[in-house]
Amino acid sequence: MSSETRVAEFAKIVGAQNVLTAEDDRRRYAHDKLPYANFRARAGALVGTLPGVVVRPGTAAEVQQVVQLAAEAGLPVIPYGSGSGVLGGTIPLGEEVLIDMQRMDRILSVDPENALVTVEAGMNGELFEEALNKQGYTAGHLPQSLTISTVGGWAACRGGGQESSRYGKIEDIVVGLKAVLPDGRILEVRPLPKRATGPSIRDLIVGNEGTLAIITELTLRLWKLPEAEEVLAFALPDRPAALGLARRIMQAGLHPRIVRLYDEKETASRTEGIDAYRERPVMANIVLCGEPGLVAAEAALVRSFAGEAGAVETETRPFDEWRAHRYKSISQQWQEKGFYNDTIEVTVNWSRAAALYDAIRAAVPAIHPDAHFSAHWSHVYPEGVCQYMTIRLPQMPQDEALPLHARLWELLEGETLAHGGSIAHHHGTGLFRGPWMDGELGVGMDVLRAVKDALDPQNIFNPGKLGLPPRAGAIDPYRDRMDHA
Ligand SMILES: Cc1cc2nc3c(=O)[nH]c(=O)nc-3n(C[C@H](O)[C@H](O)[C@H](O)COP(=O)(O)OP(=O)(O)OC[C@H]3O[C@@H](n4cnc5c(N)ncnc54)[C@H](O)[C@@H]3O)c2cc1C
Repeated sequence: MSSETRVAEFAKIVGAQNVLTAEDDRRRYAHDKLPYANFRARAGALVGTLPGVVVRPGTAAEVQQVVQLAAEAGLPVIPYGSGSGVLGGTIPLGEEVLIDMQRMDRILSVDPENALVTVEAGMNGELFEEALNKQGYTAGHLPQSLTISTVGGWAACRGGGQESSRYGKIEDIVVGLKAVLPDGRILEVRPLPKRATGPSIRDLIVGNEGTLAIITELTLRLWKLPEAEEVLAFALPDRPAALGLARRIMQAGLHPRIVRLYDEKETASRTEGIDAYRERPVMANIVLCGEPGLVAAEAALVRSFAGEAGAVETETRPFDEWRAHRYKSISQQWQEKGFYNDTIEVTVNWSRAAALYDAIRAAVPAIHPDAHFSAHWSHVYPEGVCQYMTIRLPQMPQDEALPLHARLWELLEGETLAHGGSIAHHHGTGLFRGPWMDGELGVGMDVLRAVKDALDPQNIFNPGKLGLPPRAGAIDPYRDRMDHA
């Protein structure tokens, strides 16, 4: 099929105004928020290719027809939420067809009796949450990128919100879904409480990053907005004490809305002028919410656990300031100033958490004496914690910075695996994390490859992502990075 015929065929499905072929339009869709690609863009370089064409379906039936047409022509496609991903998941490697989901932006039903909400996958996160809040509800998924991401993107990347310690990550929030498979069939997972019918098909689709299915609709858990809330702030003597406090809270079965622990560097940057942190340099912010009686009881318990951990309670101003700007990106501000700033979020069991932090912190200066390393812990679970790390290299020529950036990634992901952790908590894998997927999943990666081969024998759904093979002739997804390593 010639490219003109192809464009005409897509236009028949979605309308000519929803097929974008102009170079400027295709360039807008050629990147997401992958920091490495942002660095390369400063030097005028593109990681990957432009998309061949951008198609904007308005219904699930249109997504299905677009996929059927692509499958018949053997054309690769990439579903696009709103390009807020930070691992290059939507970056084309061979002029793929980009399927922009953002016209599918409606809440289809709110079902208070079963505490469920059904929404189209392309709806913007902030608009979705605001619409629920107006009716007295929340879906409980509040990523820092709320304003710039879609509900479908959350599920596709297996994301985590700032209140995950209470509401769970998106995989705990998704109850049902509809998705289009590479052969054009529609898969439905009905929104039922639990099942014992073999492995979870839902969990195969959540986190698939567009490699196995295009999610068109999601049914999520719905919660009443909490009636009461109490914000607590503590200064702790050291990191192990803070981690121990969070572990105790989660293992006691409490349900804090927010838990945020900061290392000494991040504490210092947020607590200027507060004396409590001079002797106790580690900050913990803990927010309880829900029925007033439960909040009072949980707050009393947290205060007593904190006292036993050597904490003093102090003012909540740093937390209030964080909350006021909770959807703004500090990382991007550094990037815009010409620094090589990146963030890497991993998970580790409690028993290895302190050692993982110490190992990385000790090794960073050998890569560059002025490299910044800091961390906080804001997703906590009974079995362990997400360590959210910031790395930053000073302004310097790209030829010098990119190999150092690559070595920092190797260090952080490598030490995580060496400490038995997972290379990713909520940003997903995309393009950039592919090289670590075999180390992460082991034999599980063979299982993933077999599932991919079975569902997508032509390799047309987001090829080359999630550590899966690219198509023949595509740009080598890692060439650019490896050139600089
Ligand atoms: C400043 C900033 C802060 C962030 N904070 C968080 C955070 O707190 N928590 C968090 O989890 N993430 C965070 N992220 C990462 C990112 O916002 C999330 O991964 C988000 O879920 C991506 O949504 P999106 O709609 O923009 O998806 P995109 O970036 O468009 O796509 C991401 C991946 O999902 C696939 N995809 C998108 N839609 C679909 C669909 N309907 N069906 C199948 N596959 C699909 C794409 O092909 C791609 O592989 C942050 C990013 C930035 C820039």
